[in-house]
Amino acid sequence: MKANLTIILIAVLGLFITSCKETTSSEPSASPEQVFTIAIHGGAGAMPKGTYTPEQEAAFHAKLKEAAQLGYEMLSRGDSAVDVVQAVICMLEDSPLFNAGKGSVFTKEGKIQMDAAIMNGRTLDCGSVNNIQRVQNPIKVARMVMDSSKYIMFSGEGAEQFAQLNNIPQADASYFYTQHQYERWKGMKDSTEGKYIRYVDSVMALQNIPTVLNNIEEKFGTVGCVVKDKYGNLAAGTSTGGLMNKKFNRIGDSPIIGAGTYASNNTCAISCTGTGEDFIKTVAAKTVADLMEFKGLTLEAATNELIHVRFKEIKGDGGLIAIDKNGNVSFQYNSDGMFRAKVDDKGNITTYIYNE
Ligand code: ASP
Repeated sequence: MKANLTIILIAVLGLFITSCKETTSSEPSASPEQVFTIAIHGGAGAMPKGTYTPEQEAAFHAKLKEAAQLGYEMLSRGDSAVDVVQAVICMLEDSPLFNAGKGSVFTKEGKIQMDAAIMNGRTLDCGSVNNIQRVQNPIKVARMVMDSSKYIMFSGEGAEQFAQLNNIPQADASYFYTQHQYERWKGMKDSTEGKYIRYVDSVMALQNIPTVLNNIEEKFGTVGCVVKDKYGNLAAGTSTGGLMNKKFNRIGDSPIIGAGTYASNNTCAISCTGTGEDFIKTVAAKTVADLMEFKGLTLEAATNELIHVRFKEIKGDGGLIAIDKNGNVSFQYNSDGMFRAKVDDKGNITTYIYNE
């Protein structure tokens, strides 16, 4: 009798301890192993075939492939969707080819102001930062906001203080500046604003890097990543320097959860790129998820509805990448092209720039 009571007590205690255990935001669920997959973008825009030289195209393809390869390897060894999103976006932020991290565009005042967001589809936890000027990888700050703060969105100096407190590497202005973005920006300035040109000239002089890419005109260059991991969990992230020549601390869609970035295990994970105002007006990413959840649309039908029907009505401009809970991938854009990559279930990576 006494022995029976002891067994019951141990069982009840075990149940209690299990129910009190906290899970972290990136901890996978215990469901059986699932097909995992990843999709990446490096921005959409007006860039008809021929905008880039074969060498420039090769550089974009190579970097997208490297990022997809990194993500796929991480997924294969069992890393979580949010960890993969963060690592892939960090790699793209570190590349001067894209408008995120190093290579970000200039504001009207000749500054760099970056935005980023990340979301965990399993928990709906998310983190977002905007107007970051001095942190090498804004996506790391967004992740830190998601994991270690009760808030969701930090801005400007506050976001930078938070990054510093959490030992996220800083970088000074000269780290972010690239010759090709500078040339584009200079071309947009009118002559009365020469003082800003001089300000940027002096920062450019500090770094002495050769021209990375000339003649990059109207592509947006934001980066994004969506993932389904082997535990069935989804995640999405986006990072950007925003729109060239922006002013008044303008913030786009990328760090707005539900507009430029969204993930829910119930439906899909999405990262958008294009004119941010259009994605904010249409609450683009959440609208796609809602079309799936409440109207029963497939991922492909929902993303198509957003980019080719609703965007037509508002003369919207851009594209998105999305992945659903079954691992289907959708690319949609209404521009000439979108830098993008995906990996199939056998690990084959395909990268694209134009309409191919
Ligand atoms: N959507 C970004 C923004 O408006 C820009 C981009 O995608 O390149 O800030």
